[in-house]
Amino acid sequence: TERTLSIIKPDATKRNLTGKINAKFEDAGLRIVAQKRIHLTKAQAGKFYEVHASRPFYDELCEFMASGPVVVQVLEGEGAIAKNREVMGATNPKDSAAGTIRAEFAESVGENSVHGSDAPETAKDEISYFFAGMELV
Ligand code: ATP
Ligand code: MG
Repeated sequence: TERTLSIIKPDATKRNLTGKINAKFEDAGLRIVAQKRIHLTKAQAGKFYEVHASRPFYDELCEFMASGPVVVQVLEGEGAIAKNREVMGATNPKDSAAGTIRAEFAESVGENSVHGSDAPETAKDEISYFFAGMELV
């Protein structure tokens, strides 16, 4: 079975939505196999989002991701990467389908409640950015 890295972003932890978001994952058949609450520094957020370094929203994104605690988690299931992205909905909540996490909870295209890996290679790198081998069973 596949694994993917998910982040519940600061806008969502601030509004106490961790449980509601996790219920969406579990209802979709995704299993939360590792999870912890951390507060990223701006530098740590910057390294995580390095691929977006040249985008105009990069600085704002890193500020936001360091603005409060996040919950980083590993989700497991059949086709977990695609399934997670389906449950998250489109990046911009204006475009996300009804019932998705972003449709229900996101505040804006930037403060959009969740992150999910977009491919097997990025999932592997993102999981190892946050979790040591011994934290994963
Ligand atoms: P994520 O990578 O967080 O799962 P995504 O793959 O749907 O989301 P990306 O294009 O990878 O979206 O953008 C990464 C993140 O950067 C978005 O989730 C959002 O928080 C932020 N972002 C993207 N586009 C914009 C924008 N136009 N203005 C502000 N922030 C943005
Ligand atoms: Mg992305």
